[in-house]
Amino acid sequence: MGASRQLLRFVIMGAPGSGKSTLALRIIKHFQLKKFSSGDVLRDNMLRDTEIGVLASIFMAQGKLIPDDLMTRLILQELKIFTQYNWLLCGFPRTLTQAEALDRVYQVHLVMNLNMPFEVIRQRLTARWIHPASGRGYNLEFNPPKAVDVDDVTGEPVIQRVDDKPETLIKRMKVYENQTKPVLEYYEKKGVLETFSGKETNQIWPCMHAFLQTKVPQRHQKTQLPHKEKSL
Ligand code: AMP
Repeated sequence: MGASRQLLRFVIMGAPGSGKSTLALRIIKHFQLKKFSSGDVLRDNMLRDTEIGVLASIFMAQGKLIPDDLMTRLILQELKIFTQYNWLLCGFPRTLTQAEALDRVYQVHLVMNLNMPFEVIRQRLTARWIHPASGRGYNLEFNPPKAVDVDDVTGEPVIQRVDDKPETLIKRMKVYENQTKPVLEYYEKKGVLETFSGKETNQIWPCMHAFLQTKVPQRHQKTQLPHKEKSL
């Protein structure tokens, strides 16, 4: 990549609850990248009750992935608007078919994979609650809302995502094992995969930040030092 004028095409991957979204938010705070989260795009469609949203809610509630053709069309369509920007994809691609479809349009330069033990993930997810309208996340153990069960900013109720309920979580982990692992192998063969291991976001972030400083040209870096940030 070096000092070339090439736009940055990054992906962050990790099992459900491994801290993808939190780390993606930190990345875009420190580096000039636009973040696209496939889960957020789907949840936005669900809130607006679009056709895609209605369909997505059925798959999500069962802990299943949304079919590849639908997902690929949706994300590639969104990305078209941002061809002139550096971007970071979060939650897409999740299958080999999606990775190959993305590859036909964009060259991915870096895939950051989060590696976190299953037991840690299980504990994190069962404690995760969100404010549906904004997507603001809370962790009932480490980062609870200021008042019980309501969002700090709006005072509206926070809820547990239907796909974070324990019964759905086991299914999502199995889906991840079966469908997403081949994607990691695919990117490893291409030489763009970088794995970050740890038991919490704050342990992974300094390594990721330091690594990104070596990968992202200076002009796309916003800050030099990682701040101490709230963990999820
Ligand atoms: P996330 O917020 O990334 O954990 O995604 C929540 C749910 O949205 C997943 O469990 C899937 O049901 C669905 N989903 C998100 N991204 C994708 C994708 N790339 N392909 C298929 N389904 C997806």
